[in-house]
Amino acid sequence: MTVSPSAFITGAVSLITGLGVTIKAFFQPVVTSQYPRQLLNISPRFRGHTKLLADKDNLGKNGCIACGICVRNCPSGSIKSAEGEKREGEKRKTATTYILDYTTCSQCGICVESCPSDCLAFSADFNAAGFKREDFYYDLVKEFEKRKNAS
Ligand code: SF4
Ligand code: SF4
Repeated sequence: MTVSPSAFITGAVSLITGLGVTIKAFFQPVVTSQYPRQLLNISPRFRGHTKLLADKDNLGKNGCIACGICVRNCPSGSIKSAEGEKREGEKRKTATTYILDYTTCSQCGICVESCPSDCLAFSADFNAAGFKREDFYYDLVKEFEKRKNAS
């Protein structure tokens, strides 16, 4: 089989152009990451599910006073309950359970903004995964205790 000179030149130009793209990309900075072995820093403005923060006067306990304002204000009805108890020597309640249905949360931030104790914030949990809806029902008091024990 013979190849015409023009077809040969077209093929060679095409090959060199393709190699040029490859060589140029080879020397450019790597823009992909090897997830999950390599994790990137999460933007501080990222909104994962909400989490409870510590009481400013007692970092050992969560700062939720179980007032129920966030439960009433949530437009999606995602906060199923915030219950607490008044402990001896304390003037306000401390939350014992705080159930968030993350499947319906729109991450609007109303609960975070309206909390009188400033004890809610968005977590950096970006890879929540589960097999059933109930896997996304979080007890934020339990999550707070887990984080506290891990730190
Ligand atoms: S972020 Fe918005 S939708 Fe989600 S729990 Fe808070 S108020 Fe409800
Ligand atoms: S998280 Fe804030 S608004 Fe919600 S029940 Fe607790 S103290 Fe009240």
